[in-house]
Amino acid sequence: MVDDKSFRDVLGRWVTGVAVITTVWKDQVHGMTDNAVMSVSLKPPLILISIDEKASMLAKVRAANNFAVSILSSEQKALSQHFAGQRQSKETVDFDGFMGWPVIKNALAYIACKVHDARQAGDHVLFLGEVEHLWARSGRPLIFYQGRYHALQDMEDKK
Ligand code: FAD
Repeated sequence: MVDDKSFRDVLGRWVTGVAVITTVWKDQVHGMTDNAVMSVSLKPPLILISIDEKASMLAKVRAANNFAVSILSSEQKALSQHFAGQRQSKETVDFDGFMGWPVIKNALAYIACKVHDARQAGDHVLFLGEVEHLWARSGRPLIFYQGRYHALQDMEDKK
């Protein structure tokens, strides 16, 4: 029997980056922090994201049938907290436009997708996105490990 704490504790050892998923529904942009993002296929170019069935983002991605992923830089921890609903700030967020998709300003990379497939997986829904546009700049990513934010440090081989 797997208990929730052990599951979180063990899977928290898997290091990820942090992204904000955005979509537009009824002329409103909605954003949500998501670290379940993976590359799936090159031909066709597919990625996967995972959305909790309780998240208000779920109905919006289903309805819009598309989403964008903004991979956050190491300077964007506050934005990750904001789009995870962890900051009680009334600040408005300015989005940038990327090929017609709203994305997070100054992020490290953008991936714009249309939904290719969706599948329920326990208490989450997995979306396969077919990539329509991509962009990246150089810089350092925001890292998430064991429930905390970190910055990337290069590991040099000792001579
Ligand atoms: P809400 O809770 O309504 O929105 C989230 C926040 O974004 C709110 O504060 C809202 O004000 C703000 N917001 C939304 N749109 C805008 C806008 N246009 N302008 C300004 N602010 C806006 N959950 C998952 O389902 N899958 C994951 O992979 C995942 N990974 C996570 C990784 C990390 C590092 C963290 C911290 C959280 C993760 N979560 C994940 C949890 C998820 O981010 C939160 O549960 C989130 O609050 C769910 O969002 P929601 O769609 O229900 O929307």
